[in-house]
Amino acid sequence: MIPYSTQLIEDDDIDAVADVLRSSHLTQGEYVEKLEDEICNYVGVKNSVLFNSGTSALFALYSSLGIKEGDEIITTPISFVATSNMFVALGAKPVWCDVKLDGNIDENRVEKLINSKTKAIVAVDFAGKPVNHEKLKDMAKKYNLLYIDDACHAFGSEIEGKKIGSFADATVFSFHAIKPFTTGEGGCVVTDDEELAEKLKLFRSHGIVKKSFYNADMISMGHNFRLTEIAAALGLSQIKKVDRFIAKREEIASYYDERFKNHKLFLTQKIENNQKSSRHLYPVVLNPELHCPKDDIINELHNKGLGVQVHYKPIYQNSYYKQKFGEFSLAVANDFYKSEISIPCHQKMSMEDAEFVADTFLEVIEKYSYRGCSF
Ligand SMILES: *Cc1c(COP(=O)(O)O)cnc(C)c1O
Repeated sequence: MIPYSTQLIEDDDIDAVADVLRSSHLTQGEYVEKLEDEICNYVGVKNSVLFNSGTSALFALYSSLGIKEGDEIITTPISFVATSNMFVALGAKPVWCDVKLDGNIDENRVEKLINSKTKAIVAVDFAGKPVNHEKLKDMAKKYNLLYIDDACHAFGSEIEGKKIGSFADATVFSFHAIKPFTTGEGGCVVTDDEELAEKLKLFRSHGIVKKSFYNADMISMGHNFRLTEIAAALGLSQIKKVDRFIAKREEIASYYDERFKNHKLFLTQKIENNQKSSRHLYPVVLNPELHCPKDDIINELHNKGLGVQVHYKPIYQNSYYKQKFGEFSLAVANDFYKSEISIPCHQKMSMEDAEFVADTFLEVIEKYSYRGCSF
């Protein structure tokens, strides 16, 4: 089975990890800081604070920005649950904004959701395609809101040659195994705000500052959300390869774009001319006549060796959210869930694999096009 995404670990990655295991520090050594510096250089931001997951990075960020009970957060339902979970954990309420057919938040629907309780806009660069950061940022500024980017899909994505990570007040990346590059589990917040970065570092490690050798003082509430040196060493080795990984995914995605151009049964995600996408996922959006047989299509693709997946069930459709906030429904997001399939696209695939995926996908889709919904 060719998975929809997977990591690529090479011998030098393994050597880098083995070196740390032989060293004196498995945690709280020099590698975390080194990786933070590399991330700052790569993204073009002043501060980077590493965490042991993208989820803990989100929690630390929302918390450090003062998001609390009674606040409303405008966000997209087409994301991994963590985007909303971590502010709901602080007592804030999600205000869902509908998406566009590319899976990204519809920037034209945000303004009418803003009220006196609104505290932040949280965007997600779905599959690696940048959202309309200019418009969302202007909106946040106009209403004095925080603008946060959950860019867990989008490390390496760009607008006009500028990397994702420099558009929002703060941006979160994930280094989970299948994200653009990996530390196993891991994540970070990048921001140009020095004060915020200091708060995040305190939050990451018990809220403790060291005054002298033995006199450590806990000055604010904190957790242990630290990344290990083992993970950071893997990240330092991997980040050197991230451009190569992205180029490989772009090669595969461009090949699919060409093969699938103007297809009558589905859409693909269009990356604008001034954008670059990390191509974390290759989402395909099926026409409505394929909604009913979608489960059969997925089963048949699995049987033929394509590890396709669906991204995402709208967050408001999860039981926890229904119980806590009631039934909710957005037309495009609901449809997107019925339509979307992510097909394999990652740096471990060969172009022969890509050809096999495209051939098999087209064969199966065309077979089911005659079934419709009445079957
Ligand atoms: C992966 C992901 C997260 C969570 O990151 P972890 O490192 O797995 O905790 C959050 N948001 C989005 C959009 C993600 O894809």
